[in-house]
Amino acid sequence: MTAMQACPECEDEVQISGSARPNEIIDCAGCRSELEIVALNPAVITLAPEVEEDWGEYGFLSEINSSRAAFS
Ligand SMILES: [Zn+2]
Repeated sequence: MTAMQACPECEDEVQISGSARPNEIIDCAGCRSELEIVALNPAVITLAPEVEEDWGEYGFLSEINSSRAAFS
């Protein structure tokens, strides 16, 4: 069975296949957002956490390191 859900970002219809599993990441064809399937029957989708967050953390750490270097 295939379910249709509105994308939380652009409200385009996103198809969730019958073989989909919870925590699976799917792409919205409309806005190309990554969406996470949080529940099935009924299907619930949410915006997947952005991968960029990890990079932001690393950038923050390297900033601390470089300011330490400036003081030494
Ligand atoms: Zn979308």
